[in-house]
Amino acid sequence: MNLWKSLSSLLIAPTCPLCDRPSPRFFCRDCDRQLHACQFDRPAADWQGDLPIFAWGKYEGTLKRSIAALKYNGQPQIAQPLGLWLGEAWQQTMQIPACAIVPIPLHAAKQKQRGYNQATLLAESFCQATRLPLASDALWRIRSTEAQFKLGAIDRAQNLANAFAVNSAFRQRSAGVLLLDDIYTTGATVNAAASCLQQQGIRVRGVIALSRTAKR
Ligand SMILES: [Zn+2]
Repeated sequence: MNLWKSLSSLLIAPTCPLCDRPSPRFFCRDCDRQLHACQFDRPAADWQGDLPIFAWGKYEGTLKRSIAALKYNGQPQIAQPLGLWLGEAWQQTMQIPACAIVPIPLHAAKQKQRGYNQATLLAESFCQATRLPLASDALWRIRSTEAQFKLGAIDRAQNLANAFAVNSAFRQRSAGVLLLDDIYTTGATVNAAASCLQQQGIRVRGVIALSRTAKR
């Protein structure tokens, strides 16, 4: 046993990753409450149309801050509870056959810089909760794209054209796939990913997002 490790775990109380206050739970009580204040009452309200959307919460406040911490502050562990909540909400709401879960990939250069893809981490945790199969390398991001938030809707779509490719080793299940991402904004990213999969004859049943901006 590593003595130093066991000593320091006794001396250093765990802290909440969002506010740094000591907390025996992963998120402290305050942050947990603020996160759940962002949760949608009806996550499947937009489960309709060609590319239906299931979103856990509104992209604002503490949920927005936690996603920023996950992506930009090197706190990948935040994906674990958030992916679990997303999975629990899915299980309570949806009855869809066992589709494979395909996280929206990052370009390799960006992933190397960040050290991980937050959508893959969320999908791993989501799949633990739902027991749906994870297909984390079904899709590749072959073109580095400009940060989407700087662009308008038409520019977003153009920016993403041909950004994705399907891994030739991916074998689809008859039930099809579900895309999973951290934020749903205009839908430009998931639409580009979905059309890439559909061109290969893969059925895309919908999009699962941890958060989304204002409703359509
Ligand atoms: Zn906190």
